[in-house]
Amino acid sequence: MKPLKELVRPNILKLKPYSSARNEYSGHAAHVFLDANENPYNGPLNRYPDPLQTELKNKIAEVKGIPAEYTFLGNGSDEAIDLPYRIFCRPGVDNVVAIEPTYGMYRVCADINDVEYRPVMLDEHYQMDADKLLAACDKNTKIIWICSPNNPTGNSMDRKAIEKVLTKFDGIVIVDEAYSDFSRERPLRYELLKYPNLIVLNTMSKAWASAAIRLGMAFASKEIIALMNNVKYPYNVNQLTQLQALKVLGEKADVERWVRLILQERGRMVEAFSQLPLCEKVFPTDANFFLARVSDAQRIYDYLVERGIIVRNRTRVQLCNNCLRITIGTRNENNELIGALRQFNA
Ligand SMILES: *Cc1c(COP(=O)(O)O)cnc(C)c1O
Repeated sequence: MKPLKELVRPNILKLKPYSSARNEYSGHAAHVFLDANENPYNGPLNRYPDPLQTELKNKIAEVKGIPAEYTFLGNGSDEAIDLPYRIFCRPGVDNVVAIEPTYGMYRVCADINDVEYRPVMLDEHYQMDADKLLAACDKNTKIIWICSPNNPTGNSMDRKAIEKVLTKFDGIVIVDEAYSDFSRERPLRYELLKYPNLIVLNTMSKAWASAAIRLGMAFASKEIIALMNNVKYPYNVNQLTQLQALKVLGEKADVERWVRLILQERGRMVEAFSQLPLCEKVFPTDANFFLARVSDAQRIYDYLVERGIIVRNRTRVQLCNNCLRITIGTRNENNELIGALRQFNA
């Protein structure tokens, strides 16, 4: 890995971050807060939230097994996806490399930040080739994006291939593990000490059943986390979100039960879907959804919409011709989908 000083944009390197009232005061127990121009009435939401979300990070450390100093929290993964562009990529100069197909936000954030996006096609099994990714890099490549388990394909990327990229690439490698709770693979976040150029993304939106609260996580070296904290909005995670996240994280047993149910339903759904005359192939999945190739994705999608059932039509995505992406729902929802599809006239 290149020294961080060479990877970070010069303006970010010399940035003097905003220092809030809540940043500047710490230490002594205090009970009169007249430092932040808050309104003293309407408690408790009259106060600015903790800008570094210390209590929440400590809870996450317990649940995820990563110390709080290695953790960034943001307004969904969206924020954790956008920040690395703003930290590492000079607009109009630098570029990023990513597996293709994958989650659409990596490209949208590249476009917004005026950073060239270089997609590298997966193979016919939706697997990545480390050498192809590395070959797409040049001296201005700052980030390689990997999503595992991958959206929309559902499969995990080959672990050896990911580790080869981490070892050989001298820039930042971001591995989005939004779906790792649904996979039996050991999460890469446990390898942070081995790979100083690794950023792992997690989210409360999937297994933790809290998409509405917008809480995303990045796990990385203390130095990278410090950069993310310098660039983020001072109060990027609001108090309602912090409180609700603490509550959900305290009910870990519920979440584990939901994940077990979803995995059980996933097995049942893959089996049932495979038997449908309209199904050509169900691709292997490590996530809470599966990708399936069908006879005519657009017609089947429209047919389902008419019955009030929405799946994701991915037919226009590269390598996903005639593919639908189907999220695992409750047992009843899943039965409704399969029931409707059994009545579809091919
Ligand atoms: C759903 C998803 C996320 C979650 O994004 P949030 O902004 O945290 O809701 C992140 N990455 C991938 C690949 C996803 O599919």
